[in-house]
Amino acid sequence: MQAKIAYEIADIPDDFNKLDATELPYTFPESLQSELAKQLAQSPINRYPNPAKSGLQNQLRQVFTILKSAHIALGNGSDELIQFLTLLVAQPNATVLALNPSFVMYQHNAELFGLNFVSVPLNIDFTLNLAAALDAIAQHKPALIFIAYPNNPTGVPFAREDVQAIIDVATGIVVIDEAYGAFSADSFLSQAGQPEHLVVMRTLSKIGFAGLRLGYAIGSECVMRELAKILPPYNMNWLSLTAAKFALQHYDWIEEHINILLAERERLSHEISQLVGVTVYPSQANFITVKFPDVDNVFNQLKKNKILIKKLHGSHPALKQCLRLTIGTPEQNNQMLAIIKQTV
Ligand SMILES: *Cc1c(COP(=O)(O)O)cnc(C)c1O
Repeated sequence: MQAKIAYEIADIPDDFNKLDATELPYTFPESLQSELAKQLAQSPINRYPNPAKSGLQNQLRQVFTILKSAHIALGNGSDELIQFLTLLVAQPNATVLALNPSFVMYQHNAELFGLNFVSVPLNIDFTLNLAAALDAIAQHKPALIFIAYPNNPTGVPFAREDVQAIIDVATGIVVIDEAYGAFSADSFLSQAGQPEHLVVMRTLSKIGFAGLRLGYAIGSECVMRELAKILPPYNMNWLSLTAAKFALQHYDWIEEHINILLAERERLSHEISQLVGVTVYPSQANFITVKFPDVDNVFNQLKKNKILIKKLHGSHPALKQCLRLTIGTPEQNNQMLAIIKQTV
């Protein structure tokens, strides 16, 4: 444990443009805010929370295509579900497998619970190396595989057939982490629970509600029943259950803003890719990963102009000279773009 470092939460002044954490840059308009306030005021916080009674799971089924036979587990953010899914397979000599570079919490939790962790390097262009993944699965027989689809921190989509091939050969649980699923052209959501070992995980964090801490995992009855045995009985709270249901009842508002970001993602990707010596990786998420000739210069100039983005350089050899730019509002993006153009 002493070798580990706690996840660092950026602490920045209020007047900064916060484009480091893949959050949605929009909040509900005042009319929806006051409607939500009323519902929150009426939520029965004198009682222990009951997710089944909150109607959130039903609301998820209304908005998304989810198999009738599948069960939905709720977590305090999908981070908590990653933790409990890992704990679920925590046996001596069990192995967790993930791709690399990918979301850091997969490895973090595997090591936290004393499991073996195997990472399969991505190709140089951040696509999935299927042969390497299949070899590693055959060799290590992982009890749990995490695949972020689309991947973070690269944004690059994997070929659906490759992910399906991994699901087909895996004997353990396969978690497709679709934290950015709402921004992606493809999804495994409607297949969650079929086959039985396929779990799809999503979150409200990247679509406007990171502060609610609301993640969910969808899977077969048999896997979700096992997960339910180790989830704390009252891990969710009435306020976020109420707010999450309300948010999903206004999914048209969410979708409208996702569409703005998608158009902005294409615009930013195109503009930045015109700059000499710069590589923009194709993204299916609400951020773009970019390799610059001089990453520190770009990062510092942005910071000087009160724009915080995520420096990936230094976190992994494959991410040398890379920054992750969260897509902001058109105005924020214009500011970011102007500074990048001056700097590169
Ligand atoms: C942000 C993120 C999460 C965590 O989401 P929360 O629901 O906020 O805990 C999980 N997986 C990936 C790939 C992410 O980028």
